[in-house]
Amino acid sequence: MNIDLLKRLCETPGVPGRERRVRELILSEVEGLFDETRVDTLGSLICTRKGKGEKPEKVMLLCHMDEIGFLVSHVTDKGFIHVDPVGGFDPRNLFSRRVLVCTETGDHKGVMNAEGKPIHIQSAEERKKMPEPDEFFVDTGHGAAAKDFVQVGDYVVMNEPFEEMGEKIVSKALDNRIACWLGIETVRALVEQGLEHQCELTVAFTAQEEVGLRGARTASFGVQPDIGIGIDTTLSCDTPGVPEKDQTTVQGKGVGIHMKDGSFIADIDLVREFEALAKEKDIAHQRTILHRGGQDGAAVQQTAAGSRAVGIVVGTRYIHTVAEMIDKRDLEAARELLTAFIAAR
Ligand SMILES: [Zn+2]
Repeated sequence: MNIDLLKRLCETPGVPGRERRVRELILSEVEGLFDETRVDTLGSLICTRKGKGEKPEKVMLLCHMDEIGFLVSHVTDKGFIHVDPVGGFDPRNLFSRRVLVCTETGDHKGVMNAEGKPIHIQSAEERKKMPEPDEFFVDTGHGAAAKDFVQVGDYVVMNEPFEEMGEKIVSKALDNRIACWLGIETVRALVEQGLEHQCELTVAFTAQEEVGLRGARTASFGVQPDIGIGIDTTLSCDTPGVPEKDQTTVQGKGVGIHMKDGSFIADIDLVREFEALAKEKDIAHQRTILHRGGQDGAAVQQTAAGSRAVGIVVGTRYIHTVAEMIDKRDLEAARELLTAFIAAR
């Protein structure tokens, strides 16, 4: 398993609208794997392998590149940086976080905190209050000099290490660099195993998913596939304090075949096809439904005249925090299932 690639993908900063560095890393990794690569107007990277015959079926994988983070909205005279969220962090996870402020001249370390006093001098009332995401600020330690190197529109990501813990991987941005990894490693597996496919295969590394599936819409319109597969993380609430019915997935029980969320209902025949293939190849899998949320599968399903769509997901604990956790066996199962699906088409 190419863990080193996943580490580099997770550690590369890239919030919605600022995916360039992630895109460049992917571009260097996919060399020789595709017949054609292009970048569309919104910044999605569209990579295509030709199909066989006159009018091959078009299969599209959608893997969003962006991670949740912030854009700089204001720098005070004292050099404190106010931010505007791009994507949904839970504010409870944003206190005293090490961050990177990514500017045009380089990355600068910082600490994120909420406006207000430390616990020693808070009133009982203040202690109960939960700040909104826009009440957080970043301190780079450079005081007023920060005004010289940070400007409105620069971006901020969490600065947390990527670590292996037994069968698990813990990192920021596993949502959704696991999909970028799957988009690359699935095609690498096809090539290395000498597997042919009849379909025209497009892997779209999409932009701006976390602010509303924006890159997936334009990328899908450009490709207009017959089948669209949204690859993403999903919840894994197999942890204390969550009733069994709300777990969504159980880690270690395999790749998720995503059937419904707040934004789409998967094509039931595609669900059955993936399931049959998983059984045939002995790949651990589980059906998943999420009560809310959305993913790129919804965008590809409804673009132009629409396409048949399904989601392939990896259950993630502590999602949208700085310490997301996946199980390596589920990720590997996702890669095997996607490889088998493409090779069958
Ligand atoms: Zn995601």
